[in-house]
Amino acid sequence: MSRSKYHFETNAIRTQTERSQQREHSVPIFATSSFVFEDAEQARATFASEIEGNIYSRFSNPNNDEFIQKLCLLEKTEDGVATASGMAAMFISIASFLKSGDHVLASRSLFGSTHQILTGLLPRWNISHTYVDIHADIASWEKNIQPNTRMIFVETPSNPGLDLLNLEELGKLAKQHQILFNVDNCFATPYIQNPTDWGADLVTHSATKFIDGQGRTVGGAVLGRKEVIDEVRFMARHTGPAMSPFHGWILSKSLETLSVRMEKHCQNALTLARFLEEQPEVTRVKYPFLSSHPQYELAQRQMRLGGGMLTFELAGGLGRGRRFLDSLEMLSLTANLGDTRSICTHPASTTHSKLLEEEQARVGITPSLIRVSVGLEHIEDIQTDILRAIEKSK
Ligand SMILES: *Cc1c(COP(=O)(O)O)cnc(C)c1O
Repeated sequence: MSRSKYHFETNAIRTQTERSQQREHSVPIFATSSFVFEDAEQARATFASEIEGNIYSRFSNPNNDEFIQKLCLLEKTEDGVATASGMAAMFISIASFLKSGDHVLASRSLFGSTHQILTGLLPRWNISHTYVDIHADIASWEKNIQPNTRMIFVETPSNPGLDLLNLEELGKLAKQHQILFNVDNCFATPYIQNPTDWGADLVTHSATKFIDGQGRTVGGAVLGRKEVIDEVRFMARHTGPAMSPFHGWILSKSLETLSVRMEKHCQNALTLARFLEEQPEVTRVKYPFLSSHPQYELAQRQMRLGGGMLTFELAGGLGRGRRFLDSLEMLSLTANLGDTRSICTHPASTTHSKLLEEEQARVGITPSLIRVSVGLEHIEDIQTDILRAIEKSK
């Protein structure tokens, strides 16, 4: 599955479920819970895994298979499992491999629900974790490896801090210690970085974000080598976090335009980042492909483009951040990201409000930090709306 004669864009479009007798050009939705067998022998052999074939949509479905086959080609992995949400993907990518007594080494800057899995759920099954600060060097990571460490789990760029982790160094460390290396690649997407280039064993996704890119569905995926995914498939098949065929169909269509959307997201984000750097009321702008980003060189090495997310800070603290949001006319106030529509969030008072100010600072959140998911509207309209809100919130 990981080899193809085609380029990224072509794979995203031309990987398609076999045409039916109806000769359709666009793939239909296989809205069926189960699949019929030709005869008793085919049923027996399919259940015995002697032949490949669909049995029941909790196990596999043509729409989800098409979505996963595309994603495998884009992420350079052999195999994968589609899940009903990004969190289902995160959870089974961890739970398929860990048992009582094991330990996870993770970046402190993680998506909120992933943090809840590590701190609130895994301890129930006697699985412990250690967090490493996003700015820590590779020696600190190595120092925190224990004899029972089974997995390293990271996200890069981080949310909302947009700090990067060095995937090459972490990949080597994981390999040296024979630890599974799991990378949540949701922020970057396979168009911008392929964690398998740097030794990732598992690549996890929330397809809800840039992969769908239009704010229509919730979905996820776990990808990796065949023998790794076999474990994940076993867990998925028997615990049931299956993606619905309708969402598999939508997300496979979404991948067809991933490359053009990401080019535009990144172009708009870089233009907006440079524009904000020139505004006197803006005290700081963070975007991986701005030369002022503290890890600009790493970003250039590890990422093909800077991504669709940026953050900035306004003079004036928490109240200013909230007034800014209330002054926006066009940009949406919503928890999603990676949408065609530009979105602003204020992490200090929303997504990360449960953290103490000191904990917020540790993951890069200051009181007036604004996170922007830069959409695909005309860049001048995005700039105008933000500038107007900056003025109004003074
Ligand atoms: C949104 C998100 C998730 C969770 O995905 P859902 O599809 O909302 O379940 C996980 N990781 C990251 C980095 C995310 O942004």
